[in-house]
Amino acid sequence: MGDWFQTIVDTEATPEEAQELAANVLAWLISDGIVSAERTDCVLGADAGHAPGARHGEAVVDPDPELVDVWSNGLHVTVERTVFDAGQGEPSAVTCPHCAVEMRLVDEYWSPVEETWDLFADATESWADDYDEPVACPSCGRTARVHTWIWADDYFAFGHLGFTFWNWPALRPEFVVELSSRLGGHRTVLLEGKL
Ligand SMILES: [Zn+2]
Repeated sequence: MGDWFQTIVDTEATPEEAQELAANVLAWLISDGIVSAERTDCVLGADAGHAPGARHGEAVVDPDPELVDVWSNGLHVTVERTVFDAGQGEPSAVTCPHCAVEMRLVDEYWSPVEETWDLFADATESWADDYDEPVACPSCGRTARVHTWIWADDYFAFGHLGFTFWNWPALRPEFVVELSSRLGGHRTVLLEGKL
């Protein structure tokens, strides 16, 4: 059994504003009792995070009384240029932000469509190297920076700020909307995955 995570990624926050936005949202989550204030060893991929607070059930659709007994059950806030991905599996399709044409990245047997994936492979890696490589759309011919393409099932999200909830039940849509509204109306992506 793997560990399941949900990450709300702010795809528009700049490196300069990410830290302050993170602090604002965290202060709200702590004051509402969604997460606890102290940082403890309760997340994967980082030293410490914020364990569920007394009222964490208000953030999810179907509260799980056993969540408090799960070792990795905390919130980790990422403030760093990051390619957020869904962990396991392959991205299935990607959509051009200009012409909205969707291109399949896997075939009917879930094998990667090499010629399409080749258009994106280097570009997706460029984000971590401080670059946002443009990709030319085979359909409309226009180019768009890799972080603006829309990935099926939100497989990828490129950003500087993300809130990862480890092993929480599905987050309530209203909770996601409220958290997003505290990010200054930035476009957010809810990415779900498994490690
Ligand atoms: Zn296009």
